[in-house]
Amino acid sequence: SIHSLSLSLQAKMSKPVQARRLEGIDKNIWVEFVKLAATYSTVNLGQGFPDFPPPDFLKEALERALGGENHALHQYTRAFGHPPLVKILAQFFGKLLGRDLDPMTNVMVTVGAYQALFCCFQAFVDEGDEVIIIEPFFDCYEPMVKMAGGTPVFVPLRPRTPKDGKLMSSADWQLDPDELASKFNERTKAIVLNSPNNPLGKVFSRGELELIADLCARHDVLCISDEVYEWLVYDGKEHIRIASLRGMWDRTVIIGSAGKTFSATGWKVGWTVGPDRLLQHLRTVHQNSVYHCATAPQDAVAQGFQRELELYGKPDSYFIRLPKDLQRKRDRLIQSLDAVGMKPIVPEGTYFLVADISEFKSDVPDVPDSEEPYDSRFAKWMVKSKGLAAIPLSAFYSEAHKNNYTRFIRFCFAKEEATLKAASDILQKWKREKTRP
Ligand code: PMP
Repeated sequence: SIHSLSLSLQAKMSKPVQARRLEGIDKNIWVEFVKLAATYSTVNLGQGFPDFPPPDFLKEALERALGGENHALHQYTRAFGHPPLVKILAQFFGKLLGRDLDPMTNVMVTVGAYQALFCCFQAFVDEGDEVIIIEPFFDCYEPMVKMAGGTPVFVPLRPRTPKDGKLMSSADWQLDPDELASKFNERTKAIVLNSPNNPLGKVFSRGELELIADLCARHDVLCISDEVYEWLVYDGKEHIRIASLRGMWDRTVIIGSAGKTFSATGWKVGWTVGPDRLLQHLRTVHQNSVYHCATAPQDAVAQGFQRELELYGKPDSYFIRLPKDLQRKRDRLIQSLDAVGMKPIVPEGTYFLVADISEFKSDVPDVPDSEEPYDSRFAKWMVKSKGLAAIPLSAFYSEAHKNNYTRFIRFCFAKEEATLKAASDILQKWKREKTRP
């Protein structure tokens, strides 16, 4: 038929279909691990999202936005952010940063933190520019830098063994100051900072942030500060915003996420906060790609922030309650893992926990010369034969460094008690089977 003739002609096109900017970034571990978890897992501690509901006040705010009298909430709103949301974000972050923020120029709403990141790389990175990424890192930074034509330059957090048999903490993973400094040069355009850090849960100390800030100032480098886990810090730790350090406001874009802040990752409401001299270029990218984010969820998130501003620092604040709950869940998972010898690295923040699988190595024999890092094969085996899903740590490293970190897997503990109990049961049964003669 004519139809199949035209299809076969199309298939014979000799021009390459794929744009060069996609070269080498077509593989993505999430596609594979999300599918494996969906197929095999009975307990999914893999991908980072809560299996508990968002707070009632947020759900009710969305119901009001959708079902209320204001039909305008079903239509387009302001492209760079729904006015009630940018206003409250300016007020809230103004308070946190101790600075007057203009809702129209210092805040932009995005489709999750993901699009905020994408806007930053597209807006700031030119062909040949270098962008420093601290390993282990949220994996999308690397392909996003490459799509913008830039070159990612990796610098690892280096683990040191804790003293006197204590559990390792995410604070034991640190930058080597000389190594970090050696990555800055005249081609360096930006550094990506992610504190609290996914996957380790590391909360960068003031000293570490000052080190980064000094290098940014010395080399005139921008800081893309991914702070989506800003409220999830434990044991009385403080999340310090690098933009609040001297000289950093003018060169920093803060990125946040209502998904992480209000336990509603499916809403995909995110934001950027920063100086107009930087945000004006984010607006250009946003204007010419996404243009506009869904109105009703923005309205509901605005109401959520209104509530949080009124309750700021009070026990009823969600930003106080959530980390308190999560700290208990963290401690529960630490206990379950420690009891079976899967040594946890105690995270200071986020809802992730990285654990050492060395003691379980004999269950999944190594295949020397395999292209695939050991932890990745281990995680696949674990979900298929134990029903427990987690993510290999090597997924958070560059190709060149992947094989240096293959004895860790990452768990997400933003889960109901019953889910964490089920994970613990699987681990204990596994341990019993191992020790049986
Ligand atoms: N940054 C980090 C460090 C993350 O972990 C995530 C989500 N896993 C994002 C950004 C993306 O957030 P959002 O869902 O709001 O797009």
